[in-house]
Amino acid sequence: MPELPEVETVRRGLARSIVGRRVASARLLRRDVLRTASRSGQAALLAESTIKEVLRRGKHLAVVAEDGRALGVHLGMTGQLLVAPIGKPQAARDHVHARWVFDNGSTLIFRDPRRFGGLWSYATLDALRTARWAGLGADALHVTARQLELGLAGGRRAVKAALLDQGVLAGVGNIYADEALFRAGLHPCRVAGSLTDPEVGRLAESIRCVLREAVRAGGSTIRDYAGSDGSPGRQQERHLVYGRGGQPCVHCGTLLTAFLVAQRTTVACPRCQRLPKSYSHSRSTHRTFAGVD
Ligand SMILES: [Zn+2]
Repeated sequence: MPELPEVETVRRGLARSIVGRRVASARLLRRDVLRTASRSGQAALLAESTIKEVLRRGKHLAVVAEDGRALGVHLGMTGQLLVAPIGKPQAARDHVHARWVFDNGSTLIFRDPRRFGGLWSYATLDALRTARWAGLGADALHVTARQLELGLAGGRRAVKAALLDQGVLAGVGNIYADEALFRAGLHPCRVAGSLTDPEVGRLAESIRCVLREAVRAGGSTIRDYAGSDGSPGRQQERHLVYGRGGQPCVHCGTLLTAFLVAQRTTVACPRCQRLPKSYSHSRSTHRTFAGVD
């Protein structure tokens, strides 16, 4: 499942490839992938307009044309946007749902085998923002301490559950929530609203850092991505806690513990991410294992 860094990598690759290019032709190959029932596939897919910019909020993308129209894209679980450069045909692939040809001969396809993703067409970017992005919290890659503080304030659920809530913070998934909490030295079961200002500041900075690093790691494979095989960057080797339950903490050597928060597997260091003494065992398990809000 693409997380924010992969989506940002896709955005950057797209911006490089299609901004300033005119859509010579566009074809919708599978009708129901376009989730907004309105215009013809051609118009919805920005045919005959020039691409002005590619934006992202959380895991949502928006391709904006110079004439003001906007196309929302969500990659869901298995969605891909693949560019084949000028003179290079797209590799034969199945599950191609939409296809664009640009004025310079480059092509773009949207494929999504499991179809949890999709395309959303709007007359304006404002309309797209209202319909698709209004319920999203601050973008995680750029979240400020103040924005995070507002998102967590008064929250009674576990801080990790709050981080996974797209209405609090857009774009943080399970991997980066664990990584950011570890770097901030905060236990995932801390009650969201109980974090002090310095803790929130540390957490906001950790979130931005882990995501920036992951974008950089993904960015290194952008050429492959845009050129041929479409595999986004992977960087498991950089994870300090995610997927490392039972292994030693990179800081203190204590064995990392794995447990559930909001029904998601969570890994933390019991020493570097201590729970305050006021948290009895029963209280933390009670609150967090059930994902109680
Ligand atoms: Zn540790």
